[in-house]
Amino acid sequence: MSNDHTHDQPSDPALQVKALESLLVEKGYVDPAALDALVDAYENKIGPHVGARVVAHAWLDPDFKRALLTDAKSALAGLGITGWRSANLIALENTPGVHNLVVCTLCSCYPWSVLGLPPTWYKSAPFRSRAVIDPRGVLGEFGVELPEDMEIRVWDSTAELRYLVVPQRPPGSDGLSEGALAALVTRDSMIGTGLARAPGAAAQEEAPA
Ligand code: FE
Repeated sequence: MSNDHTHDQPSDPALQVKALESLLVEKGYVDPAALDALVDAYENKIGPHVGARVVAHAWLDPDFKRALLTDAKSALAGLGITGWRSANLIALENTPGVHNLVVCTLCSCYPWSVLGLPPTWYKSAPFRSRAVIDPRGVLGEFGVELPEDMEIRVWDSTAELRYLVVPQRPPGSDGLSEGALAALVTRDSMIGTGLARAPGAAAQEEAPA
């Protein structure tokens, strides 16, 4: 790429974003401080660690778990987790008999407030179509082998309704602190494409983002 032509549009995405931001600020459409706060939120505050904390709390506190499964938004508000705008949230509990898997067949609806930004595969056409047609096959590709008699329920997210899976608490996790339990709760386990880690298991790479 040549830099001879100084009047060319910047081709680097970061430069383009910077140029766009400068223009929006200059025109008075956005407040730079608000933009900084937004970027900071998605980089540092919002992410799967939020959902992991919720799951660990539910594992330890049966009353909270009941509240979470009954009215997730209110239960999360009690933990100071808000920001849902109009979308509702339903928490789905995995049990020895039922495994829940979340997809958005239409686009990429995702519970951002508890899981952060969706992984690339979540938005991919193969995942969106095959999760519904062949959930067991898709889970196998994620390395999740479930007993034959376990029911798999697939939930289709929409703009109005998002889902958070509460994975089963792994065996051998008795006596762990909430923080230690939260470390076992992977992003994928809250989408249903993974299981919670066993205590002491090396932190495994999640499916490619
Ligand atoms: Fe969607």
